Amino acid sequence: MAAMLQPQIILLKEGTDTSQGKAQLVSNINACTAVADVVRTTMGPRGMDKLIHDDKGTVTISNDGATIMKLLDIVHPAAKILVDIAKSQDSEVGDGTTTVVLLAAEFLKEAKPFVEDGVHPQNLIRSYRTACYLAIEKIKELAISIEGKSLEEKKSLLAKCAATTLSSKLIGGEKEFFAQMVVDAVIAIGNDDRLNMIGIKKVPGGNMRDSFLVNGVAFKKTFSYAGFEQQPKKFLNPKILLLNIELELKSEKENAEIRLSDPSQYQSIVDAEWNIIYEKLDKCVQSGAKVVLSRLAIGDLATQYFADRDIFCAGRVAEEDLQRVAAASGGTVQTTVNNIIDEVLGTCEIFEEKQVGNERFNIFSGCPSGRTATIVLRGGADQFIEEAERSLHDAIMIVRRALKNSTVVAGGGAIDMEISRYLRQHARTIAGKSQLFINSYAKALEVIPRQLCDNAGFDATDVLNKLRQKHALPSGEGAPFGVDINTGGIADSFANFVWEPAVVKINAINAATEAACLVLSVDETVKNPKSESAQGEAAASAMGGRGRGAAFRGRGRGMRRR
Ligand code: ADP
Ligand code: MG
Repeated sequence: MAAMLQPQIILLKEGTDTSQGKAQLVSNINACTAVADVVRTTMGPRGMDKLIHDDKGTVTISNDGATIMKLLDIVHPAAKILVDIAKSQDSEVGDGTTTVVLLAAEFLKEAKPFVEDGVHPQNLIRSYRTACYLAIEKIKELAISIEGKSLEEKKSLLAKCAATTLSSKLIGGEKEFFAQMVVDAVIAIGNDDRLNMIGIKKVPGGNMRDSFLVNGVAFKKTFSYAGFEQQPKKFLNPKILLLNIELELKSEKENAEIRLSDPSQYQSIVDAEWNIIYEKLDKCVQSGAKVVLSRLAIGDLATQYFADRDIFCAGRVAEEDLQRVAAASGGTVQTTVNNIIDEVLGTCEIFEEKQVGNERFNIFSGCPSGRTATIVLRGGADQFIEEAERSLHDAIMIVRRALKNSTVVAGGGAIDMEISRYLRQHARTIAGKSQLFINSYAKALEVIPRQLCDNAGFDATDVLNKLRQKHALPSGEGAPFGVDINTGGIADSFANFVWEPAVVKINAINAATEAACLVLSVDETVKNPKSESAQGEAAASAMGGRGRGAAFRGRGRGMRRR
């Protein structure tokens, strides 16, 4: 009786939605699996692309896991974790974004039956962490170093890595061509960490093969005034002056007021204006520069002035391009034309204005410091070039990673199969439940070769059996065997040059395990009823009367300024 009278404890506000326990965990796992199903088919050289168009009508065609995940706009709180790991993989290593999502989802899928059977998630998490550690140690052991090779050898090794990345993309048909280009670009910028030193310019039209690499900087011709056509369009070893000032008559722009008592004084005012600009232009000419670039406008007067003196000029050059010209040519951007010394002028072997497709390009090649490179991409549709750019970005990142860490592993699912085998073998030595969990982890790793087969239309069970058999050979000679994407059988991925930097796999396995463990460690989701619609109000009431007053004052101030 007493028990019935006990008052109910109300902890959370009415309307709070909480779900907890096993059911919640299973629902989170299902959500993650659903997300992985979206990108599943994009995996590998025979993967499909996704076309996503948003409410603004922008159409994106992509094969890149991170790009697709970003565009999907996922709202499920647990599934969002997968989006985050895809993004972090993209910024950390640049490739393997589909891999990381698939792995995480597969780890969770393998964990699901255990969770349903009442295994405590913490047990699973502990085993998964151990398995992850073992897997990474094994990858490091299996990785092959390219250190100590000659530059030529290194270049061809790096090109292999780039080609593997590109093989799963839209431009995969021309992978050797682009791989070579990417490697040349990365080698050109040397150890410079700034990714923006490799520029990618897109010019619609033409053929993919018309794309070319400029050992220096190239950018689209900027807006120009009359007189421009009389300027020379090619120089050998010109001096380059970089400016961040306007070279324009400004009288009408400034709202200055001048009172004159005598009409003849008017001329002197006008003259003063002209004198100022002529003086500036004169200084530019005297510096000996043959090419003048400015981030700000170069007006018609200046354009004509330079044309008369056989000097090339371009105004309104994009900040990024100007910085890259500065880095490449060894010049520095000036904010005044006073006292231009020789040291601040840059130079390059050839400056040229050239027609590329429908566009005119200013091209600076053979730059002395050689710390920049520009890839000019050609191709049919806009979406195609966009995707090509994203793919090249992946490849560039991969080559940089490989150059830095200089270890590679066999791709095509070979490394995944090998770790899987190793973990299964290791599991047999463990007593207790952990054995089952590590076995599941090992099984989950097989998702990579299985997906490669599925996407290519091969019989995955058949191929996987062959792979398991090969990898189980006691001599260890089967380790580099992976899916042969051309025949539907198995092949030595290493011999076929399907190479990936080890860091891609290490990062992917690490991030996927972390994400899986994170999802597994959540057993309750609480949705605060205020968290959506009433958020603004809640913030205002939390601040109290003062907050509201401040808001009003803020608005008042804004209006007065207007
Ligand atoms: P991610 O976004 O994870 O990089 P991809 O669609 O680029 O996904 O697919 C990468 C996978 O495809 C890697 O596991 C890689 O080993 C495999 N792969 C790439 N080229 C080949 C090839 N020629 N033969 C077999 N597998 C390949
Ligand atoms: Mg890839």
